[in-house]
Amino acid sequence: MAEGYDVIIIGAGIHGASLAFHLAKRSVKVIVLERRFLAAGATGRSSGLVRMHYDLEPESRLAWASFQYFRNWGEMVGGDCGFTRTGFLQLVKEAYLEQLHANVQMHQRIGIPSILVDAEDVKRLAPAFATDDFKIAAYEPESGYADPNGTTAAFMTTARQNGATIWQDCQVKGIRTTGGRVSGVETSKGFISGDVVVNAAGAWAASIGEMVGLAVPVNTWRHDTMFIRRPHDQGPSHPTVIDNINSMYFRPETGWLTLVGLEDENKIGESADGDIEHAKTGFVERASGRICERIPGMEHASLHSAAGGVDGITPDQRAILGQAGPEGFYLACGFSGTGFKIAPAVGACMAELILDGESRSVDISAFKLERFSQGKFLKGEFAYEDMWR
Ligand SMILES: Cc1cc2nc3c(=O)[nH]c(=O)nc-3n(C[C@H](O)[C@H](O)[C@H](O)COP(=O)(O)OP(=O)(O)OC[C@H]3O[C@@H](n4cnc5c(N)ncnc54)[C@H](O)[C@@H]3O)c2cc1C
Repeated sequence: MAEGYDVIIIGAGIHGASLAFHLAKRSVKVIVLERRFLAAGATGRSSGLVRMHYDLEPESRLAWASFQYFRNWGEMVGGDCGFTRTGFLQLVKEAYLEQLHANVQMHQRIGIPSILVDAEDVKRLAPAFATDDFKIAAYEPESGYADPNGTTAAFMTTARQNGATIWQDCQVKGIRTTGGRVSGVETSKGFISGDVVVNAAGAWAASIGEMVGLAVPVNTWRHDTMFIRRPHDQGPSHPTVIDNINSMYFRPETGWLTLVGLEDENKIGESADGDIEHAKTGFVERASGRICERIPGMEHASLHSAAGGVDGITPDQRAILGQAGPEGFYLACGFSGTGFKIAPAVGACMAELILDGESRSVDISAFKLERFSQGKFLKGEFAYEDMWR
């Protein structure tokens, strides 16, 4: 039998690593159990967009609190998260212009650097973009993208320097409860005792919930992305963009690459362990067509690579955060395809919840599991359509 821990975290994605970092900083004896390797799940496939534009205030607040980490990574965490500032543009269909205005006002109220710009401003920021299908866009000059693998490794490295343990190639097979509270986990490497168990198992979160008889409404969400090589006349970089008009997002990558993902046809309910080495048939053609709509010069781009990833998605496409089921059991899952950028603050909040009984950094009470049984799905005051369709 292994020695006991204060907190056992299941899953070494960005959320397991962030929570381990925050707990270890407070001298908690914490172990992260990972059935494969660090960032083997959604995190290792993430597009890494770092922006604060959401239509739900608590998410914008989490993203803004997390942004302080991304831009001050060396001081706040150590190592390198690969944050690259590109500026971020949110384009919406004409039907959502009122919502765009209202959401930018909400972001400004929080303190997020976000402004409305017109199509001519966008042309100045990104001369290669077609700008004839919108009049106004939201612009976050400070935002960009980070390296999800590097970010996770940096969190875990500092966590370990502060006493955290990680066991890779270690699958959790069961959770033991005694008198209504968790007492440890059964793993492929034996039993580990602990007073608190956190489900940070991404697309596999529902199966971890079942281990304590808890229905966790997290389904699988499959998402493909591709990297293309920009023709040299497209310049060395461009802003990061969510282009809702063309149901896609894209961002630059070093080496004259551009990453493209699509908002539609992301299959829900497939196996979390399917083939992610290859994008689905037809994805590259669809994504190529979309990027050429926004950047016509991409007609001369070439394909670098395409692959898939799987995250956990909830019915309202928002995370589940908080205590649920037996005493000592916590959920940090269901990040629904947008969980990378909020991980630094989510880890801080979950650590506060576990240790102090409530989160102080950001109010995360909106993300409780109970909202589903109460039929209170999370929806922004000025909601856009669902991100994923
Ligand atoms: C292709 C793609 C692009 C994305 N792009 C963005 C983006 O641009 N910006 C953004 O903010 N978000 C993005 N996301 C979403 C974001 O990446 C995820 O929300 C986030 O990485 C989820 O992290 P996690 O730690 O919850 O889960 P994961 O990274 O999936 O980690 C869960 C871990 O749990 C492990 N595990 C599962 N079961 C067990 C078990 N029984 N025992 C032990 N370990 C177990 C798994 O092996 C896995 O490593 C994207 C997601 C995908 C798939």
